[in-house]
Amino acid sequence: MIHRVFSLGLLACNASLVGDEHSREALVIDPGDDPQPLLDTIAREGWKVREILITHAHIDHVAGVADVQRLTGAAVAMHPLDQPLYEGLEDQAAWVGMPTPERVPITRWLAHGDLIQCGAHHFTTLFTPGHAPGHVSFYCASESLLISADVLFRGGIGRTDLPGGDANTLLESIHTRLMTLPDATRVVPGHGELTTIGEERHSNPYLSLAWKPQGSLRN
Ligand SMILES: [Zn+2]
Ligand SMILES: [Zn+2]
Repeated sequence: MIHRVFSLGLLACNASLVGDEHSREALVIDPGDDPQPLLDTIAREGWKVREILITHAHIDHVAGVADVQRLTGAAVAMHPLDQPLYEGLEDQAAWVGMPTPERVPITRWLAHGDLIQCGAHHFTTLFTPGHAPGHVSFYCASESLLISADVLFRGGIGRTDLPGGDANTLLESIHTRLMTLPDATRVVPGHGELTTIGEERHSNPYLSLAWKPQGSLRN
């Protein structure tokens, strides 16, 4: 499987293009805003993008969805608990001083455990709320690859002061859904440098913060 990371837009969102070299089928995860470099690569290399996966509906992760959808005709998948954020893109645009992006319909609602096929590979949907109420991460076991987006960063964790954020829920997501993955798992955060589960297990200071299991991951 090929995997390319593009740092896109005002807030340098890490967008992922993953593709099966044999079938040429691909997925885009979080198209960021201003996705032109991603669009150029898809067109130049002839990827058949089947689905656009949204980890969560913050504007810096979804502003480019319409452009990628128009070029590829791909389905668009998101967790339903982020629908209010998606429908409130006007407000988000006003907060960050960006124009309101075009909003395309969501064609697939994701739940924890859902599989997303990409040629011979598949990603598993992990429900990981706390930074946003409907945040999901995507894990490909055969490639030891985790798209953690704004849940887990190199040396950091997601902020929880935005609407719908909750610190205990974020820590519960991280400890029960991400830190249970193998140390060798490569991690693509939503911004900044890539890391591994093992590196974060040994050096991320935020992982020692206290939290209580509250069963908030049932969706
Ligand atoms: Zn975010
Ligand atoms: Zn972000």
